[in-house]
Parts: sequence; structure tokens; C-alpha cells
Amino acid sequence: MAESRNILRMSQASVVTRFAPSPTGELHLGNARTALFNYLLARRHGGRFVLRVEDTDAARSSEQHIASLVADLQWLGLHWETGPGAANPDHAWRQALRGNVYGPCYERLIASGAAYPCYCTATELDLSRRAQLAAGRPPRYAGTCRKLDEAGRAQRVAAGRKAALRFAVPAGQVIEFDDAVHGPQRLISDEIGDFIIRREDGSSAFFFCNAIDDAEMGITHLLRGEDHLSNTPRQLLLLSVLGLRAPSYGHVSLLTGDDGAPLSKRHGATTVRELREAGYGANAICNLLFRLGHSTPDTGLLTLPQMAAGFDIAHLQRASAHLDPVQLRHWQRAWLHSLDAAQARDWLLQWLPPQIEEDSLDNLLAAIRPNVLLASDVREWYAILRGDALSFDAEAAEAIRSAGTRFFAAAAAAAVSPERALDAAALRSATGTKGAAFFRPLRAALTGQLHGPEIDLLLRALGAERIRARLAACAEALPSAPQ
Ligand code: GLU
Ligand code: ZN
Repeated sequence: MAESRNILRMSQASVVTRFAPSPTGELHLGNARTALFNYLLARRHGGRFVLRVEDTDAARSSEQHIASLVADLQWLGLHWETGPGAANPDHAWRQALRGNVYGPCYERLIASGAAYPCYCTATELDLSRRAQLAAGRPPRYAGTCRKLDEAGRAQRVAAGRKAALRFAVPAGQVIEFDDAVHGPQRLISDEIGDFIIRREDGSSAFFFCNAIDDAEMGITHLLRGEDHLSNTPRQLLLLSVLGLRAPSYGHVSLLTGDDGAPLSKRHGATTVRELREAGYGANAICNLLFRLGHSTPDTGLLTLPQMAAGFDIAHLQRASAHLDPVQLRHWQRAWLHSLDAAQARDWLLQWLPPQIEEDSLDNLLAAIRPNVLLASDVREWYAILRGDALSFDAEAAEAIRSAGTRFFAAAAAAAVSPERALDAAALRSATGTKGAAFFRPLRAALTGQLHGPEIDLLLRALGAERIRARLAACAEALPSAPQ
């Protein structure tokens, strides 16, 4: 017995972190960063990472959002020891199934007088709130039901009123904690109104189950959004009344758009799913998030283990972090660059039609790869290299017109055999031009634009037939300028 208690103490001494999303929407970058930081903190210290789903708000939570959260986090590579699918029963990670944990805590609070039923209706609460605001006081629960005696309660029950459960905040207590990001915090309990810990419908309220679970799951450290900093004193009070151990908290700055406003739709793609579908790599996203609100001397692309080794709570910054699309593209470029041939092929193939019957697939991919950053770029180059109808941009149309039809007739005539068609030097000497006077119109005729793959890669990706056909088309009629 004594021995097993020792083991318990030892395992509690190691770091346990968690990410505790509410499954009410898609995982956006702000939450993904919180997940990453907690994951890295656990890995850094050889600890455990817990994924806890906070789904007590049944009306707003959904199975579909749980599934997409799980898929997004797994795709990012943030694997957990406790959480969905990790050989744990569902009640180990899912709050809606943890009534057995919460029930006894409610009973203890009620029995000791630390919690009481509140029968106030939404209208009554609203009236009281307005009255306080009008009197220039901060609105908080007026304590109406705290004063009720047994008879008063019985009367309300008899009138068919439903009760929520409120925590009776003890008076005159000083609540102090050291936030890992914001430093020492101090609050007097008198500034906190009695708050709801169980809703009228019997479901557990956030302040309560979030804190109880942190203690019950042995969470030692947690990082969460700054919007929760003001909730922490309430949660500490609750835990201390229950004699439960509180984790150490760190509240990370909010993630904003590049204009400083909270991330929203108008900042473009901000959910993990949107970015994945746009072609961003998980590692590119993690490298970006690692540097948002966390300073690091490492400027190169890092793997998750390297990030874990370099993750430091002391390097979390208080100022809000801006999501910069340029930075996102920077990491995407660095990530694509880091891929070996097989990985790059897999990534490219995801964005191409499933059955490309091609003996020249490798040539196609070799031409596309250096010119793309995202899925849309891959699709665009595929359409250029394999499509039937080219569209010419203004610069390209101009380059073709100034070369004149004879240039293309000569080049098309030189492309008689596959060997000659793929030989840039042979085409060039047939046209009697050199340098830009050769490459610009050639590239324009073959792709409809002046930028793109190296000529040799381009010729191989197109193949002799397409080269001949595209050159011949320009020999017949110069493209008209785009409207
Ligand atoms: N479910 C809460 C949220 O998503 C968790 C907050 C926390 O990490 O404690 O905001
Ligand atoms: Zn009340």
C-alpha cells in the first residue's frame, strides 16, 4: 500500500499537460497553437499529454466536431497518451461521460454548505444585473438564493422552479497564483460573485468540470488562452475548498490577424482543415505556431522533437501574436524544400487527378514541383501542362506577337522527332534567335505565361506532341490579347 502510494507520488511529479477543446467548431489556429504548446511542454519534460473533450454543453457540441478535432490534431502530429482512441475508455477523456467524477464533488460541496441551489430565473438575474450596472457597480450575482432557508427553498420547489447549483464564494480570501506568462496574480474573493457550477438541466458548468478534471486527471501544468486568466481565481477557490491540487497555469496571448484584430473569416484560411485542404503541410503550420508568442533563436525548419527540445515556458510572450500570411508561406516553402523525392511525390499527387495514365508522370512532377507552394498552384500547372486550351496572359501574348508567326513555324518544323522537340538548342537554332528572344516566346507559346519551370523540365513534361501542337498553333494564329 505504502509502496503504491509512492509510485503515485512519483508519477505525479512528472509533467502532465492537456489540451481541453470544446467541440463546438473546427480547430482554428489559435487553439492549434494552444494544443501544440501543451504537447511540446509534455514532450520536453518526458511527461504525458492529455486530450480532454469539454462537451458538457450538449446543444453546442457535436460528434462531428469531436471527430474533426481528433483528425486535425493527429494530422498535426500532436499525439496524446490519454484521449480519444488511445486505448482509453471514453469516460477517461470525455466530460459528458464523467458524471461519476463530478457527482461526489457536488455532494461534498452541498454537504459542507459550499454550494447551494439557485432558483433565480434568467429574467430575475437580468433585472438584478441592470440595476447594479445602473448604480455603477460591477454586475455579479446578488446572493439572493444563498440566504434562502429550508422553507424558502421548499416554496420554490413547490412552485415548480428548477435550480442551478452555485458555488458559495468564501468572503475575504486572498487568491494568489503565479501565472507562467503573466507573473504573480492576486485577487480578493469579495470581488467574485457566487457562480454556477451545475446548470439547471443538470449539466456541469465550465468553471467546475474544467477545474475538477484538471485535478482528477493529475494535470500538473497547463497553457491556455489569455481569455481564461480571469477565470482562474474562481477555479482555484473551488479546488481549494475541495482540497484538490491545482495545476500551474500559464495564459498565452491571443492570436490575432495581421491587422491586430481577433482571427476571423476575413483573415482568410484560419482553420487547420482549411489550411490542410489548401495544401499546407502539418510541419509548416507547426513551425509557424511554434514562433507565435514563443520566442526562439532557431530560425530553421524544426521537427516536433526539435521544437520540444527548444520549447521554454519562460519564452512565452505577453504581447498578442500576429498571424502573418507571409510567414505561413515562408514555412510552407521551407517545408516543401525539406521533402525527399518520395514525400514530394505523395504531396503533389494529392492535388492531381487520381488516374493520370502517364509514362511521363515523373517528368510532369519534376516540372511542377519547383514552381508550387499550394494545392491551387499544383492544379494550375497541371492544367497548363496537360490541358487542351491554353490561356495567354498579356505579357505572354505580347512576347508571341513580337516574335511573329515565322518564329513558331520554324520551331514547329524543327520539332520533327521527339529527340529534336525536346532539344532546346535544336529549336533555338531553327529560329535563328538566342537568349531572351528565343526563351520568352517559346515559353509563352508553350505555357501561356513567361514564368514557370526551367525550359528543359518544361519540354520533358510536355512531350514532343504537345510541343509541336502548341508551336504550330502560334504559327497559325497569334493569340489575341486577353480581354
Ligand atoms: N474548453 C475550454 C475552451 O476551449 C478550455 C479552456 C482551458 O483550456 O481551460 O476554451
Ligand atoms: Zn438565485
